[in-house]
Amino acid sequence: MAYPVGKPAHNRLTEERMERECASRNHTLLELKHPLIKVRCHCGNEYEQKIHSYRAAKNSCKRCDSQRKSKPRPEHSRLMRENNPFKGKQHTPEVCELIRQQRLDRGSWRYTPEERGIPGVLYLIRYLDEAGTHFKLGITKKTLQQRFGPKLISILHLHNATLGECFDLEQDCLRYCKQQGWRYSSPTTTELIHPDGLPYLLDRLTALYL
Ligand SMILES: [Zn+2]
Repeated sequence: MAYPVGKPAHNRLTEERMERECASRNHTLLELKHPLIKVRCHCGNEYEQKIHSYRAAKNSCKRCDSQRKSKPRPEHSRLMRENNPFKGKQHTPEVCELIRQQRLDRGSWRYTPEERGIPGVLYLIRYLDEAGTHFKLGITKKTLQQRFGPKLISILHLHNATLGECFDLEQDCLRYCKQQGWRYSSPTTTELIHPDGLPYLLDRLTALYL
């Protein structure tokens, strides 16, 4: 895919990020060709759409949408009838809290249970781009050669596990690195780690094998 030049890397749509976003909707990413995305929904429906419309829509699959809307949802109807937020009103704080909790439970950026079970790899690598060399932490379903090509300089650590386990570990490490101020982005990628964070990461990752 072609990247929009000048857009900060942390806002940029990488293929892996999009894969996760699709997975969180129970969709499979078939093709990402800026500005279009092609996906297969869990219902079997395959379709192509503008990336930004896909991301903005709650559920962009027309087949699923029509099925969902054909089912009565008495709880939803009651909430809307009592306090319709589209008529210049707001939901009551209790309803807002309920909706917030439902969103948290559903989660975003998560793999489906099936995808969590497939093999994955968590990597810590030295990565080269026009801004120089960096340390990068991430997960992938591909081989590192397929994923990075000539941008891969060396591999510091690999952890082979299920994709779900790799994802949880990656997120936890990234969260900690962010709190410590060790995370940054380059013009071409995100999830880069300042050298100060390396001892922590290496300790943590090698401890998995002790
Ligand atoms: Zn569908």
